[in-house]
Amino acid sequence: MQAAARAAGRDPATIQLVAVSKQQPEDRIDQILAAGQRVFGENRVQEAIARWSVRRGEYHDLHLRLIGPLQTNKVGEAVGFFDAIDSLDRPKLAHALHAAMAANGRRPQVLIQVNTGDEPQKAGVSVAQLPALVELAREQLGLPVVGLMCIPPVNEPSAMHFALLAKLAARHGLPELSMGMSDDFETAIRFGATQVRVGSAVFGAR
Ligand SMILES: *Cc1c(COP(=O)(O)O)cnc(C)c1O
Repeated sequence: MQAAARAAGRDPATIQLVAVSKQQPEDRIDQILAAGQRVFGENRVQEAIARWSVRRGEYHDLHLRLIGPLQTNKVGEAVGFFDAIDSLDRPKLAHALHAAMAANGRRPQVLIQVNTGDEPQKAGVSVAQLPALVELAREQLGLPVVGLMCIPPVNEPSAMHFALLAKLAARHGLPELSMGMSDDFETAIRFGATQVRVGSAVFGAR
């Protein structure tokens, strides 16, 4: 990450590593914690709560992000547990987050996930629907929307998707860009990622 940042003329301190701990054995997680990592990404609400509730008591500076799709019936639990929800992708979920934040008092950061490749099977709002979702979530509902997230199609070069996401974020005045995984985080850093979500390159294969 440091080398990629320097090669792009960026300050490495402006790029955060989100260590994706989903499906990893407990001892590997303890090793990464011992090495000082505190920001983790999980893609399932229940798995994250089971894994991190006790550790939350030990490590008060943990920062836990939900990077996977969120069903509306789990929004209450997710808002009560995570520090950030990176997968807002539809109006119904925006309304549910708004209600849960009002009921709970916690206000985790929100990123909007964009389906930059318009893949039918993939989560994320379409590029066409993004302006309306930003308007609803940030302006009308007052959610703490701070950035965008994407997962490019596996069979296409990531670069054009990262460039598109960066352009969309700038257009909407959103500072955070969550993009790049084990195979393409260097490219994502080149295109302005402020957070890279890296699993296997940190922990080993799942
Ligand atoms: C699993 C996952 C990652 C990490 O993938 P690796 O290839 O192991 O780095 C990143 N983002 C999301 C949304 C994921 O589900």
